[in-house]
Amino acid sequence: MTINKNVVYFWDPDVGNFHYGAGHPMKPHRLTLCHSLVLHYGLHKKMQIYRPYRACPQDMIRFHSDEYIEFLQRVAPHNIQSFNKDLVRFNLGGDCPVFEGLFDFCSMYTGASLDGAVRLNNQSCDIAINWSGGLHHAKKFSASGFCYVNDIVIAILELLKCYARVLYIDIDIHHGDGVQEAFYLTDRVMTVSFHKYGQYFYPGTGDMYEIGAENGRYYTVNVPLKEGIDDNSYFHTFKGVIENVMEFYQPTCIVLQCGADSLAGDRLGCFNLSNKGHGECVKYVKELNVPLLVLGGGGYTVRNVSRCWTYETSLLLDEPISDEIPYNEYFEYFARDFSLHPKINTKQNNANSKQYLEAVVQAAVENLRCLAHAPSVQMQEVPGSFLEDLSLEDEMEADPDSRILKKDCPEKAKPNEFYDDDKDQDRGVENKENSKS
Ligand SMILES: [Zn+2]
Repeated sequence: MTINKNVVYFWDPDVGNFHYGAGHPMKPHRLTLCHSLVLHYGLHKKMQIYRPYRACPQDMIRFHSDEYIEFLQRVAPHNIQSFNKDLVRFNLGGDCPVFEGLFDFCSMYTGASLDGAVRLNNQSCDIAINWSGGLHHAKKFSASGFCYVNDIVIAILELLKCYARVLYIDIDIHHGDGVQEAFYLTDRVMTVSFHKYGQYFYPGTGDMYEIGAENGRYYTVNVPLKEGIDDNSYFHTFKGVIENVMEFYQPTCIVLQCGADSLAGDRLGCFNLSNKGHGECVKYVKELNVPLLVLGGGGYTVRNVSRCWTYETSLLLDEPISDEIPYNEYFEYFARDFSLHPKINTKQNNANSKQYLEAVVQAAVENLRCLAHAPSVQMQEVPGSFLEDLSLEDEMEADPDSRILKKDCPEKAKPNEFYDDDKDQDRGVENKENSKS
């Protein structure tokens, strides 16, 4: 049975106006297209739309180093010459260019993810959507793979104030390396990434033998896939892993990164998923009935991304929408078929045999069996949110059945619980290296 969820959706009207630079595959404009489709399909009438909070440097240094965030605030196209050393140190330039308004862009997409986390903590919604977020490659000390600030890690740190176990699921075609690395040593967060692996595909990590370390051993799950995977084999693999994750981990909150570069025809990707196949995973997660933060991510064929996330918004709302794209100011992007579910061009053969996929799922399940069932954390008082302006107590009484119980709320994670000691981070990396060799 499907229950209508209380869905909030974040939209900052400026977030689609940033430019990574001519020829760069990451185009924030895809967000404007997506939002236009959402409006023209009338989906805004079925959910609460908010202009999100903007993250400040204090929010960002909950994960990132002070020096890196200070640099992001100061660097701009006009002064880039004076930062030569820092550009190398923080990995800016190249894939992660310095563009006009870079810090504002980071503060918008990060603020929206954080706002979603706060509202889930307050139980003022069941599902929070931020298509501008999901920048999963950003590292504590540097930018990486078009990502500067890791909004996902920052949102999860906020969720850990109220949720004992957070599950992170990543269906971007690239490995969710930044999030995995951040939580590699803890059992409070399980990261599960489905991605293309091998033949030097970016970022090169995400082998099935990367399983976490120390307290986090077995709390990292990687599902390496080969090119050309289609809807049926992808969903079968996804479900095979996630149903076991649910049984063994019993998360109290889920963060889902919906990178759309796993769609067929992506400019950088090589999978063969349709909107429906990609959306099937989103629907499956939604129907697990756990508080859910839904984020965007990669996606480099602009029309595909906007169609995909619009369709997924409709799935999260349980609001069927027509296959015919409604007339809108970007209509020409959807020529010639003007269809939400265009036929996909199967240029790629599926290199994933049934046996291979079964073996990958089997390996993941065997690791999950090694978990002590659902680790618990000490239950104490719930801390106040640090976003003081979001006072939502009045709304908290509604629909208690679909929300977490107060007693499930653990004490706040101590500030920077996982990041106080830089050595921890380094140890995580070392362990990962060891586990590969
Ligand atoms: Zn990606």
